[in-house]
Amino acid sequence: MPSSDVLVYALHYEGAYNKNSLGAVSEGARLAAGLGGTCHAIVVGGDDLTDDFCAALGAYGATKVHRAVAPEGLAQPVVDAMAKVISDGGHAYALFGGGLLGFEIGAGLAARLDAGVTMEVTAVRAEGGRLVAERPILGDSAISEVHYEGDLGIVIARLNAFEIDETGGAPAAVQDVDFELSPWSTKATMVLRGEQRGEQVNIEDADVLVAGGRGLGKAEGFALCEELAEAFGGAVAATRAVVDAGWYSYSAQIGQTGKSVAPKLYIAAGISGAIQHKVGMQGSENIVAINKDANAPIFEFADLGVVGDLHKVLPKLTAAVKARKAQ
Ligand SMILES: Cc1cc2nc3c(=O)[nH]c(=O)nc-3n(C[C@H](O)[C@H](O)[C@H](O)COP(=O)(O)OP(=O)(O)OC[C@H]3O[C@@H](n4cnc5c(N)ncnc54)[C@H](O)[C@@H]3O)c2cc1C
Repeated sequence: MPSSDVLVYALHYEGAYNKNSLGAVSEGARLAAGLGGTCHAIVVGGDDLTDDFCAALGAYGATKVHRAVAPEGLAQPVVDAMAKVISDGGHAYALFGGGLLGFEIGAGLAARLDAGVTMEVTAVRAEGGRLVAERPILGDSAISEVHYEGDLGIVIARLNAFEIDETGGAPAAVQDVDFELSPWSTKATMVLRGEQRGEQVNIEDADVLVAGGRGLGKAEGFALCEELAEAFGGAVAATRAVVDAGWYSYSAQIGQTGKSVAPKLYIAAGISGAIQHKVGMQGSENIVAINKDANAPIFEFADLGVVGDLHKVLPKLTAAVKARKAQ
């Protein structure tokens, strides 16, 4: 008989939890309360996993943290550890905050434990003792509700779908996971793990994104976006049109076939606002659009629109941000 407990994977890097994971732990605690269960987290890594580091997830609502010694950043070892914890503990749901690693682990776990899985989830609720996940479909024009059957349901959220809620709960109990790595889990090793910078910056965690589209005119036009992003302490994003044209790297592409982001501020420069781009950035708290065409679709969902030539507007904006920061 499964419990009503929720197990959340908490990703960390250089001694800090990923904010997307903290949102997932907070959401896991809320959902577990609605199910009448408790929220557990699982943390994978090496010597860096001190008792205090693991127990700190109690402040976000986890009552227990399962500590697994295995390479962090690779999917299969985490699948091994999570499968063991769930098999022993009978958790009813596993929750991931999203991101590429979360997708890979969640999919692997679903296959391993024959569980139901929903990806790109934007909201979850407890109803009648079970979870119901909401997932946007058809280019985000409709929401499908997914009900789970069976003993284990896996919820993989869209990046940053959940609010971080630091409730200040008691330190979580820390329990080491006694598990074995599958033979195939040791076939891949981590060669290098590092934070991406410059054009390769990790856009999913940035509070401010300056996105450039075909209106930049040429690859060199991205310098304007980079200068503004640097002034804000943010990162640069791009449309598929410019990525396909080779003006910027694919890792910066936002949209249906790129990444979904939800920064505090999204500045769209020279971007028309096609639906395939919109689905990846419409969750941003504030959208500012700069476009010389007053009829561009992006103005229909921007919070603030500037009709003008980005080559004039962006440098002025950069100078203004720098001046404000210097005060
Ligand atoms: C299956 C599929 C999947 C797709 N997936 C994605 C995706 O993931 N992400 C994505 O972005 N797109 C995606 N697309 C492509 C999408 O449909 C659009 O073609 C693309 O988003 C347009 O990019 P853009 O806004 O840079 O270019 P454009 O649509 O060409 O817009 C350029 C804009 O710049 C403005 N402009 C020009 N010069 C200036 C200037 N000097 N100052 C200010 N404004 C100026 C113009 O008025 C125009 O509005 C997908 C398409 C398909 C069919």
